[in-house]
Amino acid sequence: YGDYNQKIDYVFKIVLIGDSAVGKSQLLARFARNEFNLDSKATIGVEFQTKTLIIDNKTVKAQIWDTAGQERYRAVTSAYYRGAVGAMLVYDLTKRQSFDHMARWLEELRGHADKNIVIMLIGNKCDLGSLRAVPIEDAQEFAERENLFFMETSALESTNVETAFMSLLKEIYQIVG
Ligand code: GDP
Ligand code: MG
Repeated sequence: YGDYNQKIDYVFKIVLIGDSAVGKSQLLARFARNEFNLDSKATIGVEFQTKTLIIDNKTVKAQIWDTAGQERYRAVTSAYYRGAVGAMLVYDLTKRQSFDHMARWLEELRGHADKNIVIMLIGNKCDLGSLRAVPIEDAQEFAERENLFFMETSALESTNVETAFMSLLKEIYQIVG
């Protein structure tokens, strides 16, 4: 409970979006609490977690929202996106379809969110390299074309999770801070 009594300079709302089972909840659990659960249940109810950190001598509270099992197209409500300054667009790099759906998640995000929102494309489950269905070049090309930051992560092995969230938060800080 390190943030008890702490002065907060900024609160940044970040939303996680992408198909069901790509690892959104586990990425959040890994970043916020350094936890991972192999048989995580589908998320029930709107939920967010916070993590307080220091960027450039400022205290930043990241408020990270996780979808409430509303991953069907158009089921995520506009309240979810409201006020978001950052987004992580997550696919499972062993599931081609979850990557192919990124375009419409992006369209939905851009339809709801602030035009200055910072977006990071995340290819999760990079620990399952032998089952890879999305070449890194395809993702890089999509990210470049759409002006997104991009990283591959593993919530299971903790690869790039901290780096991905911190990069996103620092980019947001450059814009908002
Ligand atoms: P969500 O529906 O997008 O929130 O997905 P979850 O976070 O609930 O994860 C779905 C399933 O994928 C769970 O069984 C997780 O344990 C598993 N999972 C999540 N991240 C990873 C990862 O980085 N590597 C592997 N191998 N499995 C993962
Ligand atoms: Mg979930």
